[in-house]
Amino acid sequence: MTLRPPAHVAGLVPYVPGKPIEEVERELGITDSVKLASNENPVGPSPLALAAAREALADVHRYPDDGGWALRQKLAAHLGFAADGIVVGAGSSELIRLAVGAYVGPGDEAVMAAPAFVVYKLAVTAAAGRPVEVPCRDFAHDLDAMLAAVTPRTRIVFVCNPNNPTGTVVTEPAFGRFVDRLPPDLLLVIDEAYIEFVERSDVPDGLAYLREARPGRPPILVLRTFSKIYGLAGLRVGYGLTTPAVAADLNRVRPPFNVSRPALAAAEAALADRAHLETTRAVTLEGRRYLAEALGRLGLEVVPSQANFLLVKTPVKGSALADALLEAGVIVRPVDGYGLPDYVRISVGTRTENERCVAALAARLRG
Ligand code: PLP
Repeated sequence: MTLRPPAHVAGLVPYVPGKPIEEVERELGITDSVKLASNENPVGPSPLALAAAREALADVHRYPDDGGWALRQKLAAHLGFAADGIVVGAGSSELIRLAVGAYVGPGDEAVMAAPAFVVYKLAVTAAAGRPVEVPCRDFAHDLDAMLAAVTPRTRIVFVCNPNNPTGTVVTEPAFGRFVDRLPPDLLLVIDEAYIEFVERSDVPDGLAYLREARPGRPPILVLRTFSKIYGLAGLRVGYGLTTPAVAADLNRVRPPFNVSRPALAAAEAALADRAHLETTRAVTLEGRRYLAEALGRLGLEVVPSQANFLLVKTPVKGSALADALLEAGVIVRPVDGYGLPDYVRISVGTRTENERCVAALAARLRG
């Protein structure tokens, strides 16, 4: 007898990350590639966060503060939200896992948009649950269709706002109506990994919904991360904001010491570095405008984005275009895995990186 995982695990296709820069450079024999594939912060980490992480290294023979008490206190003060409703994780990806682990049993359902962040589906499938994917309309969450997909077996509804990989947002007043029509016995997860890049004023603030909990509405878990605007993707820190009861359930399935000492220290320091956040936001918004315009001028269709990336329709297969750009040292993300074979997702980089991307694209489209 050979050891085999159960069928629901054997059928899983592991998450495919953006190609690491080191691998591309090794393969191509170059050193100046531009990575616009994983929606990272092109500015780099906050120097204050780096200093804090370095200092924390001295104590890594000790386990970290379990549950990230100090970071939760800082987040609580920063957001004006009770610390007992905050859970920290190794990236917000871990919080998705914790939410699913806490509430989704075999055969239970979770409703999500398609395409949306692929980890929702992976986590639910790994828990022997049933992901119920509701096609986007015009690349955005179809909230009415999502509501119609809710059944008595639905344990979680995921709303990715802004959505990855489309960059679209849900807006008011439609979102408010959606929340009011959801049954109270499920968890509404609002994934706000990219919320800091939103410019529109009609986009809901998950935290505001959480604060004004109304009877009849489901409990809410808002997910945020230090991987994007805070530039700490490599350290893996994210957090969830929720009710103390949901936080307690997530903590039941949270592995002990799930966030490392340097990561916790860096996140605390990053939270206090307002200047770094503002710089990143300015670079990203300027870059997003520049890329959207420049790609439009090249005749490419760009989905309007409120995130730090753009979904772009390609005249050839997205993966073929991504391969061609790779030869020019520009790494973008094909999204066939999201059911979008004729698109690529391009993360906003620095001005120089964006210009290199546009030049490489222009050359490939001409050639
Ligand atoms: N949520 C969304 C929508 C994302 O796009 C990502 C990462 O790309 C994450 C969550 C997870 O990020 P992390 O685990 O690094 O916090």
